[in-house]
Amino acid sequence: MATLSKRRPENLPGPFYVDSSCIDCETCRILAPQVFGEDRIGSFVQKQPESAQETFQALQALVSCPTASIGTEDRLDQQEAKASFPRKIQDNVYHCGFHSKSSFGAFSYLILREEGNVLIDSPRYLPSLAEKIKDLGGIRYHFLTHRDDIADHEKFHQEFGTQRIIHEGDLSALPEAEIVVRGNEEYLLAEDLLILPGPGHTRGHSTLLYKNEFLFTGDHLAFDPKRERLIAFRNACWYSWEEQTKSMRNLEKYDFEWVLPGHGHPTHSHKEKMKELLLACVSWMESR
Ligand code: SF4
Repeated sequence: MATLSKRRPENLPGPFYVDSSCIDCETCRILAPQVFGEDRIGSFVQKQPESAQETFQALQALVSCPTASIGTEDRLDQQEAKASFPRKIQDNVYHCGFHSKSSFGAFSYLILREEGNVLIDSPRYLPSLAEKIKDLGGIRYHFLTHRDDIADHEKFHQEFGTQRIIHEGDLSALPEAEIVVRGNEEYLLAEDLLILPGPGHTRGHSTLLYKNEFLFTGDHLAFDPKRERLIAFRNACWYSWEEQTKSMRNLEKYDFEWVLPGHGHPTHSHKEKMKELLLACVSWMESR
């Protein structure tokens, strides 16, 4: 729970505030960009919500904040914001909300499929979220992009009997995984689901390509909206930048329209534009 006594002085006066426990994960700035701003310490309220829509988005950020660092002076009803997750991104692809501190606030996603739903990385486990997912058909596969974002996988496994999937390079973080991806070749999980091993950020990082349209990238690839370019995190590369650059070049073989990262903005463009952005990202990586 956010505490008023730890309220950051940078917050604009008014009902919403961020306290000093913020870990600067960016979630609130993505979900409610008008309300939350950034400085060198983390997030703060740069503008108090003025419309019902801004208040709703600020409450979505509040319930998704991994460290419960967002508070309100008076108690506001959070039920509608909680019930809005999973939140549709496009077609049958959803953002789960309820980010987990143990994943440093990473995004997680849900794909609804007749052949069985797929959870990508892990939100915080909440009984109310699990109920919503149950109503949406449960979870068949739980794809973990890498070792850092596995959070509450065990609780989802207990609830849904998920088949957890991770690459062997990160298996030590999840030795109980039901499906282990080995080597560097693509792994066809189903006709519409292709796992692409992509060592670099960690040894066992993988991405997931759904229908040659949605690429779930974990901490491998993200989008910088200020510079409008695809990026990789040079300062958060835990295994090998050279390997990550090679893995990025490997992505040039595939078509996708969406980049759905663990950290940063879910991003859409047409396939040719994505290819162009990817090539620019690889060139930049090779120059580092
Ligand atoms: S969501 Fe929470 S932890 Fe993340 S940047 Fe916002 S206030 Fe900080």
